[in-house]
Amino acid sequence: MAVVIWQNAPAMALEVGCFDGITPAEELAEHGNLGVGAFDQLDGEMVGVDGVFHQVLADSRAAPAPPGASLAFCMVVDYTGGDPLPLPPDTTQHTLPAVLDGHGVSPNLVYTLRIDGTFADLRTRCVRPQSRPYPPLAEATRTQTEFAYDRIAGTMVGFRTPAYVGHIMPPGHHLHFLSADRTVGGHVLSFGGVDGTVTVEHVDRHDICYPDTGDFPHTVVPG
Ligand SMILES: [Zn+2]
Repeated sequence: MAVVIWQNAPAMALEVGCFDGITPAEELAEHGNLGVGAFDQLDGEMVGVDGVFHQVLADSRAAPAPPGASLAFCMVVDYTGGDPLPLPPDTTQHTLPAVLDGHGVSPNLVYTLRIDGTFADLRTRCVRPQSRPYPPLAEATRTQTEFAYDRIAGTMVGFRTPAYVGHIMPPGHHLHFLSADRTVGGHVLSFGGVDGTVTVEHVDRHDICYPDTGDFPHTVVPG
């Protein structure tokens, strides 16, 4: 069966400050069991693991998205797993691409990634809720909260995309973290000293919405 990423809006919508929630969190499970995203008003990072879609607030605390929550941006896929590949212990976010290349991953295609393990060094960030008029994302993340963990077990999920996807999908490796006890998480800034495995799943197709509701149709997008 084809593996399909479902995405609620182009990444550019988030970049230009379209932070209102346009997708109910309850809808995410219809599109898959793994995902990343950002909540309404940028109030938290979304990390979907094993079919549970968590909201990670600015204080890094994670909990399943409450009823009525909605997503400004999200990418969700039905992840079916695969053979876990052991990661070299010195793997970092910088060396991960080469590690994956060594396993035959193409730089031109899109993949779902899942890393399970213990991380000697991990840095995450969480966005802070924004209010109207919304700033561009780059401005909003200037006040992000950042967290450093010395040794923490958990799961990273997300996507690897080629640079050519531009402003449609976040390019490169976009990973969100959820601790093994499911209590903290965030958008991954960096990691190292990993004792764990990665699974990589090729994505066949990308199903993206171009919403004609919310702010995006009327927001000035840089050329
Ligand atoms: Zn993120």
